[in-house]
Amino acid sequence: MIYIAKVSLGEEEKAAVNAVMDSGMIACGDVVKHFEEEFSKYIGADYGIATTSGTTALEVALRSLGIGPGDKVLTTPYSFIASTNAILYVGATPVFADIDENTFTLDFEQVEKCLNEQSGIKALLIVHLFGRPCDMDRIQAIVKKYNIMLIEDCAQAHGATWNNKRIGSFGDAAAFSFYPTKNMTTGEGGMVLTNHSYVAENARLLISHGMKVRYYHESIGFNYRMTNIAAAIGLCQLAKLPTMNNNRYKNAAYYMENITNDQIIKPGLIEGHVYHQFTLRIRNYSRDRFIDHMNRHQIGSGIFYPLSIPEQECYKKFHFQSNFTVTDRIKNEVVSIPVHPFLSEEELARVTGVINDFTV
Ligand SMILES: *Cc1c(COP(=O)(O)O)cnc(C)c1O
Repeated sequence: MIYIAKVSLGEEEKAAVNAVMDSGMIACGDVVKHFEEEFSKYIGADYGIATTSGTTALEVALRSLGIGPGDKVLTTPYSFIASTNAILYVGATPVFADIDENTFTLDFEQVEKCLNEQSGIKALLIVHLFGRPCDMDRIQAIVKKYNIMLIEDCAQAHGATWNNKRIGSFGDAAAFSFYPTKNMTTGEGGMVLTNHSYVAENARLLISHGMKVRYYHESIGFNYRMTNIAAAIGLCQLAKLPTMNNNRYKNAAYYMENITNDQIIKPGLIEGHVYHQFTLRIRNYSRDRFIDHMNRHQIGSGIFYPLSIPEQECYKKFHFQSNFTVTDRIKNEVVSIPVHPFLSEEELARVTGVINDFTV
């Protein structure tokens, strides 16, 4: 079986975790601080605050920017649900705009239409979906024109770049996830990055019960602290990230060149893309048959995502706009194939052969 994702934890991670165990300091401490410094330096942001997950990182990012009840946050309907849940956690209201069929991310004309038609939109929450960097020139022009805040969901885009600058360093705040299937992992874990000292200070307080001096609580916070054990894994993974991303890019280049089935639309070889997923579109309503074909040949695939966010059962009661022309078509066409960094040449050739053999 060729799986859609693969986690590789080696001797380095084991040794680093053992060192933390031997130190006896297994909860939040110096290793977390070191990981925050190294990761924020790698991305090119001034401050990094490690958290328990990508989801809590998003929530903390929004809270630290002062986004809350009465505020609207414009975002994409086509993402993992956490990007919108975080908006709801802080008491703000999500507003959705349709996506572009080629980038799978927000359509900027639709974004501007929303901003022109609706008042009260305080922030734009973008998602660098599947590892593809959003067009940051367009986005920065929009946030400047409308004077709104920008939050980047980078849960799928560790190391992705736009004009040689790393994703996660553009917004007022950014959130990363280190879940095992992402481009790098800490088990569970996340990080908020920002260039604003006030956001960093707020985030630092929020993740630790509003406490700077032990048992003196300045605000009602949470316990969202990362552990030294997780951070030790993260430091090892960060060291491997450039090589792992490079392998993903090479795998994508191989597929771009060798997948020739004309029933299939490929995502393109995009500069700065870190190919968290390599996502195909299958024409003619034949995606289910494509997935059966892949399964028969023992090749894993995944539908990210079968439903748009606003049409999820748990959101029905909010009556958000839930019909979007492009999103509703794309969600029925997409299928992601294995692109993880540990595919062998034989496996790449096998996946390609099986895909090229598919007939509608
Ligand atoms: C994974 C993911 C998250 C949430 O990260 P967790 O670490 O699983 O909480 C948020 N947004 C997107 C786009 C993701 O892919």
